[in-house]
Amino acid sequence: MGACCVYPDEYKPGQPKNTPLFRLLDCHYEEFRNVYDERFSKHYGFWRPVTDEVVEKYLKCGDPQYGFARIRCKECGAEYLRAFSCKCRGFCQSCSKRKSLDLAIFLEEELFRPVSHHHWVWSVPKMLRLYFLHHRKLLPMLCRCAWDALTTFLNEALDRRDVFPGGIFVPQTFGGMANWNPHVHALITDTCWDREGNYYPMPEIDTADLQGIEKLFAGLVFTILLEEGMISDKLVDKMRSWKHSGYSVHCGRPIEACDADGRKTLSEYISRAPFSLERMSFNEGSDTVLYRGEHFHPTLARNFDVSDPLEWIARITSHIPKKGAKQVIYYGAYSQAWRGRERRQGILPTAATKEKSASSCEHSTFSRRRRQMWATLLKKVWDVDALKCPKCGGQMKVISFIEQPSVIRRILKHLDLWEDPRPPPEPLERVCEPCADYVPWQDDVPEIEVG
Ligand SMILES: [Zn+2]
Ligand SMILES: [Zn+2]
Repeated sequence: MGACCVYPDEYKPGQPKNTPLFRLLDCHYEEFRNVYDERFSKHYGFWRPVTDEVVEKYLKCGDPQYGFARIRCKECGAEYLRAFSCKCRGFCQSCSKRKSLDLAIFLEEELFRPVSHHHWVWSVPKMLRLYFLHHRKLLPMLCRCAWDALTTFLNEALDRRDVFPGGIFVPQTFGGMANWNPHVHALITDTCWDREGNYYPMPEIDTADLQGIEKLFAGLVFTILLEEGMISDKLVDKMRSWKHSGYSVHCGRPIEACDADGRKTLSEYISRAPFSLERMSFNEGSDTVLYRGEHFHPTLARNFDVSDPLEWIARITSHIPKKGAKQVIYYGAYSQAWRGRERRQGILPTAATKEKSASSCEHSTFSRRRRQMWATLLKKVWDVDALKCPKCGGQMKVISFIEQPSVIRRILKHLDLWEDPRPPPEPLERVCEPCADYVPWQDDVPEIEVG
Protein backbone atom coordinates (compact mmCIF):
# COMPACT_ATOMS: atom_id res chain seq x y z
CA MET A 1 0.00 0.00 0.00
CA GLY A 2 3.06 2.25 0.04
CA ALA A 3 2.30 3.91 -3.31
CA CYS A 4 -1.37 4.24 -2.56
CA CYS A 5 -3.30 7.49 -2.38
CA VAL A 6 -6.90 8.56 -2.78
CA TYR A 7 -7.82 9.40 -6.30
CA PRO A 8 -6.68 12.82 -7.43
CA ASP A 9 -9.42 15.44 -7.07
CA GLU A 10 -10.90 15.15 -10.52
CA TYR A 11 -11.39 11.39 -10.06
CA LYS A 12 -13.36 11.53 -6.85
CA PRO A 13 -17.04 10.70 -7.10
CA GLY A 14 -19.42 13.19 -5.56
CA GLN A 15 -17.09 14.75 -3.02
CA PRO A 16 -20.09 16.12 -1.12
CA LYS A 17 -17.72 17.48 1.55
CA ASN A 18 -16.73 20.33 -0.76
CA THR A 19 -20.31 21.31 -1.60
CA PRO A 20 -22.54 23.98 -0.02
CA LEU A 21 -25.16 21.28 0.56
CA PHE A 22 -22.79 19.24 2.71
CA ARG A 23 -21.86 22.30 4.80
CA LEU A 24 -25.50 23.28 5.14
CA LEU A 25 -26.55 19.82 6.35
CA ASP A 26 -23.51 19.59 8.58
CA CYS A 27 -24.47 22.88 10.27
CA HIS A 28 -28.26 22.63 10.32
CA TYR A 29 -29.59 19.10 9.82
CA GLU A 30 -29.76 18.24 13.53
CA GLU A 31 -31.64 21.45 14.25
CA PHE A 32 -33.95 20.79 11.30
CA ARG A 33 -34.89 17.35 12.69
CA ASN A 34 -35.51 18.82 16.11
CA VAL A 35 -37.87 21.57 14.97
CA TYR A 36 -39.53 19.66 12.12
CA ASP A 37 -42.75 18.71 13.91
CA GLU A 38 -43.33 22.18 15.17
CA ARG A 39 -42.24 24.20 12.16
CA PHE A 40 -42.69 22.07 9.07
CA SER A 41 -45.12 19.18 9.59
CA LYS A 42 -48.22 21.28 8.97
CA HIS A 43 -46.96 22.12 5.52
CA TYR A 44 -44.79 19.16 4.55
CA GLY A 45 -46.63 16.39 6.42
CA PHE A 46 -45.47 13.94 9.08
CA TRP A 47 -41.75 13.34 9.47
CA ARG A 48 -40.53 10.69 7.02
CA PRO A 49 -37.81 8.34 8.33
CA VAL A 50 -36.46 7.97 4.78
CA THR A 51 -35.15 11.55 5.11
CA ASP A 52 -32.69 10.52 7.83
CA GLU A 53 -31.59 7.47 5.86
CA VAL A 54 -30.90 9.40 2.69
CA VAL A 55 -29.18 12.35 4.38
CA GLU A 56 -26.97 9.97 6.40
CA LYS A 57 -25.96 8.13 3.24
CA TYR A 58 -25.43 11.37 1.35
CA LEU A 59 -23.06 12.70 4.00
CA LYS A 60 -20.96 9.56 3.57
CA CYS A 61 -21.02 9.59 -0.27
CA GLY A 62 -17.51 9.68 -1.70
CA ASP A 63 -15.91 9.65 1.76
CA PRO A 64 -13.27 6.90 2.08
CA GLN A 65 -13.89 6.69 5.86
CA TYR A 66 -16.98 4.67 4.99
CA GLY A 67 -15.47 2.22 2.56
CA PHE A 68 -13.65 2.18 -0.74
CA ALA A 69 -12.39 0.12 -3.63
CA ARG A 70 -8.67 -0.41 -4.09
CA ILE A 71 -7.67 0.17 -7.68
CA ARG A 72 -4.28 -0.80 -9.10
CA CYS A 73 -2.59 0.06 -12.36
CA LYS A 74 -1.60 -3.06 -14.33
CA GLU A 75 1.31 -1.24 -15.94
CA CYS A 76 3.10 0.74 -13.21
CA GLY A 77 1.56 -0.81 -10.09
CA ALA A 78 0.33 2.56 -8.72
CA GLU A 79 -2.56 2.07 -6.32
CA TYR A 80 -5.54 4.30 -5.52
CA LEU A 81 -8.58 4.32 -3.30
CA ARG A 82 -11.98 5.04 -4.75
CA ALA A 83 -14.61 5.87 -2.13
CA PHE A 84 -18.10 4.38 -2.42
CA SER A 85 -20.99 6.51 -3.59
CA CYS A 86 -24.38 6.66 -1.82
CA LYS A 87 -26.58 5.85 -4.84
CA CYS A 88 -29.36 8.08 -3.50
CA ARG A 89 -31.42 9.39 -6.34
CA GLY A 90 -33.45 12.51 -5.89
CA PHE A 91 -30.95 13.99 -3.44
CA CYS A 92 -27.27 13.29 -4.12
CA GLN A 93 -26.32 15.24 -7.24
CA SER A 94 -23.49 13.01 -8.30
CA CYS A 95 -25.45 9.78 -7.81
CA SER A 96 -28.60 11.21 -9.45
CA LYS A 97 -26.53 12.23 -12.43
CA ARG A 98 -25.18 8.71 -12.75
CA LYS A 99 -28.68 7.22 -12.54
CA SER A 100 -29.94 9.61 -15.22
CA LEU A 101 -27.11 8.54 -17.51
CA ASP A 102 -27.83 4.92 -16.73
CA LEU A 103 -31.42 5.50 -17.79
CA ALA A 104 -30.40 7.35 -20.97
CA ILE A 105 -28.11 4.47 -21.94
CA PHE A 106 -30.77 1.85 -21.19
CA LEU A 107 -33.37 3.70 -23.26
CA GLU A 108 -31.01 4.20 -26.19
CA GLU A 109 -29.58 0.68 -26.18
CA GLU A 110 -32.63 -1.34 -25.28
CA LEU A 111 -35.86 0.52 -25.71
CA PHE A 112 -36.23 3.39 -28.17
CA ARG A 113 -37.76 2.42 -31.48
CA PRO A 114 -36.37 4.05 -34.62
CA VAL A 115 -39.18 6.62 -34.87
CA SER A 116 -39.67 10.24 -33.80
CA HIS A 117 -40.55 11.00 -30.19
CA HIS A 118 -42.30 13.93 -28.53
CA HIS A 119 -41.66 15.33 -25.07
CA TRP A 120 -44.98 15.70 -23.23
CA VAL A 121 -45.62 17.47 -19.91
CA TRP A 122 -48.79 17.25 -17.83
CA SER A 123 -49.36 19.40 -14.75
CA VAL A 124 -52.06 19.90 -12.13
CA PRO A 125 -53.60 23.03 -10.55
CA LYS A 126 -51.70 24.61 -7.68
CA MET A 127 -54.60 23.89 -5.36
CA LEU A 128 -54.20 20.13 -5.80
CA ARG A 129 -50.41 19.92 -5.49
CA LEU A 130 -50.29 19.28 -1.76
CA TYR A 131 -52.36 16.10 -2.02
CA PHE A 132 -49.48 14.58 -3.93
CA LEU A 133 -47.06 15.65 -1.19
CA HIS A 134 -49.03 13.95 1.56
CA HIS A 135 -50.08 10.94 -0.55
CA ARG A 136 -47.11 9.93 -2.63
CA LYS A 137 -48.89 6.87 -4.00
CA LEU A 138 -50.77 9.39 -6.16
CA LEU A 139 -47.63 10.19 -8.17
CA PRO A 140 -47.65 7.02 -10.30
CA MET A 141 -51.43 7.43 -10.60
CA LEU A 142 -50.83 10.86 -12.13
CA CYS A 143 -48.78 9.15 -14.85
CA ARG A 144 -51.63 6.71 -15.42
CA CYS A 145 -54.11 9.61 -15.79
CA ALA A 146 -51.83 11.25 -18.38
CA TRP A 147 -51.46 8.01 -20.34
CA ASP A 148 -55.18 7.23 -20.21
CA ALA A 149 -56.08 10.74 -21.36
CA LEU A 150 -53.74 10.44 -24.34
CA THR A 151 -54.85 6.95 -25.35
CA THR A 152 -58.55 7.83 -25.02
CA PHE A 153 -57.91 10.68 -27.44
CA LEU A 154 -55.98 8.37 -29.83
CA ASN A 155 -58.69 5.69 -29.75
CA GLU A 156 -61.14 8.30 -30.96
CA ALA A 157 -58.82 9.90 -33.50
CA LEU A 158 -57.68 6.59 -35.05
CA ASP A 159 -61.03 4.89 -34.50
CA ARG A 160 -59.19 1.87 -33.08
CA ARG A 161 -59.07 0.58 -29.51
CA ASP A 162 -56.09 -1.72 -29.95
CA VAL A 163 -53.47 0.70 -31.25
CA PHE A 164 -50.93 2.30 -28.89
CA PRO A 165 -47.77 4.41 -28.99
CA GLY A 166 -44.79 3.68 -26.71
CA GLY A 167 -44.56 5.90 -23.62
CA ILE A 168 -41.82 6.49 -21.04
CA PHE A 169 -43.31 8.35 -18.07
CA VAL A 170 -41.52 10.00 -15.16
CA PRO A 171 -43.40 11.57 -12.24
CA GLN A 172 -41.50 14.70 -11.17
CA THR A 173 -42.14 16.57 -7.94
CA PHE A 174 -40.18 19.81 -8.28
CA GLY A 175 -40.48 23.20 -9.91
CA GLY A 176 -37.66 25.57 -10.89
CA MET A 177 -36.98 26.68 -7.30
CA ALA A 178 -37.03 23.12 -5.93
CA ASN A 179 -40.57 23.91 -4.73
CA TRP A 180 -43.21 21.18 -4.55
CA ASN A 181 -44.78 20.95 -8.00
CA PRO A 182 -45.91 17.45 -8.99
CA HIS A 183 -46.17 16.92 -12.74
CA VAL A 184 -45.48 14.28 -15.36
CA HIS A 185 -42.83 14.18 -18.08
CA ALA A 186 -43.06 11.67 -20.89
CA LEU A 187 -41.29 10.66 -24.07
CA ILE A 188 -43.85 9.29 -26.50
CA THR A 189 -43.42 7.80 -29.97
CA ASP A 190 -45.20 9.55 -32.83
CA THR A 191 -46.08 6.11 -34.15
CA CYS A 192 -48.65 3.66 -32.79
CA TRP A 193 -48.64 -0.12 -33.12
CA ASP A 194 -51.23 -2.85 -32.97
CA ARG A 195 -50.64 -6.29 -31.52
CA GLU A 196 -49.67 -7.76 -34.87
CA GLY A 197 -46.80 -5.28 -35.23
CA ASN A 198 -48.53 -3.06 -37.83
CA TYR A 199 -47.85 0.62 -37.36
CA TYR A 200 -49.99 3.73 -37.69
CA PRO A 201 -48.73 7.31 -37.64
CA MET A 202 -49.92 9.37 -34.69
CA PRO A 203 -52.49 11.93 -35.90
CA GLU A 204 -51.36 15.59 -36.00
CA ILE A 205 -52.17 17.14 -32.63
CA ASP A 206 -53.30 20.77 -32.72
CA THR A 207 -54.20 23.21 -29.94
CA ALA A 208 -57.83 22.08 -29.84
CA ASP A 209 -56.71 18.44 -29.49
CA LEU A 210 -54.39 19.41 -26.64
CA GLN A 211 -57.28 21.15 -24.90
CA GLY A 212 -59.35 17.99 -25.33
CA ILE A 213 -56.57 15.86 -23.83
CA GLU A 214 -56.23 18.35 -20.97
CA LYS A 215 -59.96 18.04 -20.22
CA LEU A 216 -59.73 14.25 -20.22
CA PHE A 217 -56.68 14.45 -17.94
CA ALA A 218 -58.42 16.85 -15.53
CA GLY A 219 -61.45 14.53 -15.35
CA LEU A 220 -59.26 11.52 -14.55
CA VAL A 221 -57.29 13.37 -11.85
CA PHE A 222 -60.49 14.59 -10.21
CA THR A 223 -61.81 11.02 -10.29
CA ILE A 224 -58.82 9.51 -8.48
CA LEU A 225 -58.82 12.28 -5.85
CA LEU A 226 -62.56 11.76 -5.31
CA GLU A 227 -62.16 7.98 -5.16
CA GLU A 228 -59.38 8.35 -2.60
CA GLY A 229 -61.68 10.57 -0.57
CA MET A 230 -59.28 13.49 -0.67
CA ILE A 231 -61.50 16.09 -2.26
CA SER A 232 -65.26 16.72 -2.33
CA ASP A 233 -67.68 17.02 -5.25
CA LYS A 234 -68.18 20.59 -4.12
CA LEU A 235 -64.53 21.43 -4.72
CA VAL A 236 -64.56 19.69 -8.11
CA ASP A 237 -67.64 21.70 -9.16
CA LYS A 238 -65.96 24.88 -8.02
CA MET A 239 -62.75 24.11 -9.89
CA ARG A 240 -64.61 23.09 -13.05
CA SER A 241 -66.23 26.53 -13.11
CA TRP A 242 -62.84 28.27 -13.22
CA LYS A 243 -62.04 30.08 -16.43
CA HIS A 244 -58.51 28.60 -16.44
CA SER A 245 -58.59 25.04 -15.19
CA GLY A 246 -55.06 25.20 -13.78
CA TYR A 247 -54.27 21.92 -15.59
CA SER A 248 -51.90 21.97 -18.51
CA VAL A 249 -50.74 19.60 -21.23
CA HIS A 250 -47.77 20.41 -23.41
CA CYS A 251 -46.44 18.51 -26.43
CA GLY A 252 -42.99 19.52 -27.67
CA ARG A 253 -41.53 19.48 -31.17
CA PRO A 254 -40.55 16.07 -32.54
CA ILE A 255 -37.15 14.60 -31.81
CA GLU A 256 -36.33 12.84 -35.06
CA ALA A 257 -35.48 9.16 -35.21
CA CYS A 258 -31.85 9.98 -36.15
CA ASP A 259 -31.39 12.44 -33.24
CA ALA A 260 -29.74 10.24 -30.60
CA ASP A 261 -28.29 13.31 -28.84
CA GLY A 262 -31.75 14.88 -28.56
CA ARG A 263 -33.12 11.70 -26.99
CA LYS A 264 -30.19 11.47 -24.58
CA THR A 265 -30.59 15.09 -23.49
CA LEU A 266 -34.30 14.59 -22.87
CA SER A 267 -33.86 11.25 -21.09
CA GLU A 268 -31.45 12.95 -18.70
CA TYR A 269 -33.65 16.01 -18.36
CA ILE A 270 -36.80 14.12 -17.36
CA SER A 271 -34.91 12.10 -14.73
CA ARG A 272 -32.70 14.90 -13.36
CA ALA A 273 -32.24 15.75 -9.67
CA PRO A 274 -34.73 18.19 -8.03
CA PHE A 275 -32.16 20.93 -7.61
CA SER A 276 -28.76 21.81 -8.95
CA LEU A 277 -25.74 22.28 -6.72
CA GLU A 278 -24.25 24.77 -9.14
CA ARG A 279 -27.25 27.03 -8.58
CA MET A 280 -27.16 26.82 -4.81
CA SER A 281 -24.97 28.75 -2.37
CA PHE A 282 -24.96 28.72 1.39
CA ASN A 283 -23.77 31.88 3.11
CA GLU A 284 -22.64 30.92 6.59
CA GLY A 285 -22.20 34.57 7.58
CA SER A 286 -25.79 35.65 6.92
CA ASP A 287 -27.07 32.08 7.43
CA THR A 288 -29.07 32.08 4.20
CA VAL A 289 -29.35 29.85 1.17
CA LEU A 290 -29.44 31.46 -2.24
CA TYR A 291 -30.85 29.49 -5.16
CA ARG A 292 -30.65 30.83 -8.69
CA GLY A 293 -33.45 29.40 -10.82
CA GLU A 294 -33.05 28.55 -14.46
CA HIS A 295 -35.92 30.83 -15.46
CA PHE A 296 -37.74 33.89 -14.23
CA HIS A 297 -40.22 32.79 -11.55
CA PRO A 298 -43.66 34.35 -12.08
CA THR A 299 -44.90 34.02 -8.46
CA LEU A 300 -41.67 35.30 -6.96
CA ALA A 301 -41.24 37.85 -9.76
CA ARG A 302 -37.49 37.16 -9.90
CA ASN A 303 -35.14 34.38 -10.94
CA PHE A 304 -33.63 33.62 -7.53
CA ASP A 305 -34.84 32.75 -4.08
CA VAL A 306 -33.30 33.37 -0.65
CA SER A 307 -34.33 30.96 2.11
CA ASP A 308 -33.69 30.32 5.71
CA PRO A 309 -31.46 27.17 5.90
CA LEU A 310 -34.09 25.06 7.68
CA GLU A 311 -36.80 25.99 5.19
CA TRP A 312 -34.47 25.10 2.34
CA ILE A 313 -33.69 21.70 3.89
CA ALA A 314 -37.44 21.06 4.32
CA ARG A 315 -38.01 21.96 0.69
CA ILE A 316 -35.27 19.81 -0.85
CA THR A 317 -35.82 16.78 1.38
CA SER A 318 -39.52 16.77 0.43
CA HIS A 319 -38.43 15.44 -2.99
CA ILE A 320 -36.71 12.35 -1.60
CA PRO A 321 -38.83 9.60 -3.11
CA LYS A 322 -40.64 6.99 -1.10
CA LYS A 323 -38.59 3.80 -0.74
CA GLY A 324 -39.12 1.54 -3.74
CA ALA A 325 -41.12 4.19 -5.63
CA LYS A 326 -40.95 3.69 -9.38
CA GLN A 327 -38.92 6.37 -11.07
CA VAL A 328 -39.89 5.45 -14.62
CA ILE A 329 -43.10 3.86 -15.86
CA TYR A 330 -43.41 2.29 -19.31
CA TYR A 331 -46.69 2.12 -21.19
CA GLY A 332 -48.10 0.76 -24.46
CA ALA A 333 -45.54 -0.49 -26.96
CA TYR A 334 -42.78 0.27 -24.42
CA SER A 335 -44.37 -1.73 -21.61
CA GLN A 336 -42.65 -4.91 -20.52
CA ALA A 337 -45.74 -7.01 -21.33
CA TRP A 338 -45.94 -5.65 -24.87
CA ARG A 339 -42.24 -6.14 -25.58
CA GLY A 340 -42.30 -9.62 -24.08
CA ARG A 341 -45.18 -10.60 -26.35
CA GLU A 342 -43.44 -9.14 -29.42
CA ARG A 343 -40.32 -11.13 -28.66
CA ARG A 344 -42.31 -14.32 -28.25
CA GLN A 345 -44.09 -13.64 -31.54
CA GLY A 346 -40.78 -12.81 -33.21
CA ILE A 347 -41.92 -9.29 -34.12
CA LEU A 348 -39.33 -6.51 -34.32
CA PRO A 349 -36.20 -8.38 -33.21
CA THR A 350 -33.65 -5.97 -31.82
CA ALA A 351 -29.90 -6.41 -31.42
CA ALA A 352 -30.54 -7.10 -27.76
CA THR A 353 -33.07 -9.87 -28.35
CA LYS A 354 -30.84 -11.61 -30.88
CA GLU A 355 -27.97 -12.05 -28.51
CA LYS A 356 -29.94 -13.34 -25.58
CA SER A 357 -31.17 -16.87 -25.14
CA ALA A 358 -34.88 -17.50 -24.72
CA SER A 359 -34.50 -18.20 -21.03
CA SER A 360 -32.39 -15.20 -19.99
CA CYS A 361 -34.32 -12.19 -18.83
CA GLU A 362 -33.98 -8.81 -20.41
CA HIS A 363 -32.53 -7.29 -17.32
CA SER A 364 -29.51 -9.56 -17.20
CA THR A 365 -28.53 -8.51 -20.72
CA PHE A 366 -28.78 -4.94 -19.64
CA SER A 367 -26.73 -5.58 -16.51
CA ARG A 368 -23.98 -7.16 -18.56
CA ARG A 369 -23.94 -4.29 -21.02
CA ARG A 370 -24.05 -1.81 -18.18
CA ARG A 371 -21.00 -3.39 -16.59
CA GLN A 372 -19.19 -3.13 -19.91
CA MET A 373 -20.21 0.49 -20.08
CA TRP A 374 -19.15 1.29 -16.55
CA ALA A 375 -15.82 2.88 -17.43
CA THR A 376 -17.42 4.83 -20.28
CA LEU A 377 -20.09 6.01 -17.90
CA LEU A 378 -17.60 7.20 -15.33
CA LYS A 379 -15.78 9.00 -18.05
CA LYS A 380 -18.98 10.82 -18.92
CA VAL A 381 -19.90 11.66 -15.35
CA TRP A 382 -16.53 12.98 -14.25
CA ASP A 383 -15.12 13.69 -17.65
CA VAL A 384 -12.13 11.47 -16.95
CA ASP A 385 -11.40 7.83 -17.55
CA ALA A 386 -11.67 6.50 -14.00
CA LEU A 387 -9.93 3.28 -14.87
CA LYS A 388 -7.02 4.94 -16.63
CA CYS A 389 -3.93 5.42 -14.48
CA PRO A 390 -3.37 9.13 -13.81
CA LYS A 391 0.37 8.40 -13.51
CA CYS A 392 1.17 6.39 -16.64
CA GLY A 393 -2.12 6.18 -18.56
CA GLY A 394 -2.18 2.38 -18.12
CA GLN A 395 -5.27 0.28 -17.51
CA MET A 396 -6.46 0.21 -13.86
CA LYS A 397 -8.28 -2.67 -12.22
CA VAL A 398 -10.37 -2.91 -9.07
CA ILE A 399 -8.48 -5.33 -6.80
CA SER A 400 -10.67 -5.30 -3.68
CA PHE A 401 -13.49 -3.59 -1.85
CA ILE A 402 -12.76 -2.50 1.71
CA GLU A 403 -15.83 -2.25 3.89
CA GLN A 404 -14.75 -3.45 7.33
CA PRO A 405 -14.42 -0.42 9.67
CA SER A 406 -11.25 -1.71 11.38
CA VAL A 407 -9.51 -2.28 8.03
CA ILE A 408 -10.66 1.08 6.64
CA ARG A 409 -9.30 2.76 9.75
CA ARG A 410 -5.97 0.94 9.58
CA ILE A 411 -5.39 1.74 5.89
CA LEU A 412 -6.47 5.38 6.14
CA LYS A 413 -4.39 5.93 9.31
CA HIS A 414 -1.40 4.43 7.54
CA LEU A 415 -1.97 6.87 4.65
CA ASP A 416 -2.54 9.73 7.07
CA LEU A 417 -6.04 10.21 5.65
CA TRP A 418 -8.04 9.26 8.73
CA GLU A 419 -10.49 11.75 10.21
CA ASP A 420 -12.78 10.89 13.09
CA PRO A 421 -16.18 10.11 11.57
CA ARG A 422 -19.31 12.13 12.31
CA PRO A 423 -21.25 10.97 15.36
CA PRO A 424 -24.50 9.22 14.42
CA PRO A 425 -27.66 11.33 14.94
CA GLU A 426 -29.60 10.95 18.19
CA PRO A 427 -32.73 8.86 17.70
CA LEU A 428 -35.84 11.04 17.66
CA GLU A 429 -39.06 10.33 19.46
CA ARG A 430 -41.78 11.57 17.22
CA VAL A 431 -44.84 10.69 15.23
CA CYS A 432 -43.85 9.18 11.92
CA GLU A 433 -46.14 8.96 8.94
CA PRO A 434 -48.49 6.24 10.20
CA CYS A 435 -50.18 5.47 6.91
CA ALA A 436 -50.69 6.99 3.51
CA ASP A 437 -54.19 8.19 4.30
CA TYR A 438 -53.46 11.22 6.38
CA VAL A 439 -55.61 14.06 5.11
CA PRO A 440 -54.36 17.28 6.65
CA TRP A 441 -56.82 19.48 4.84
CA GLN A 442 -59.94 18.72 2.96
CA ASP A 443 -61.18 21.51 0.79
CA ASP A 444 -59.15 24.38 2.10
CA VAL A 445 -55.73 23.52 0.76
CA PRO A 446 -53.20 26.18 1.70
CA GLU A 447 -50.99 27.29 -1.14
CA ILE A 448 -47.26 26.70 -1.19
CA GLU A 449 -45.45 30.00 -0.87
CA VAL A 450 -43.25 29.37 -3.87
CA GLY A 451 -45.56 28.28 -6.67
ZN1 LIG B 1 0.18 3.38 -14.07
ZN1 LIG C 1 -24.07 9.97 -3.70
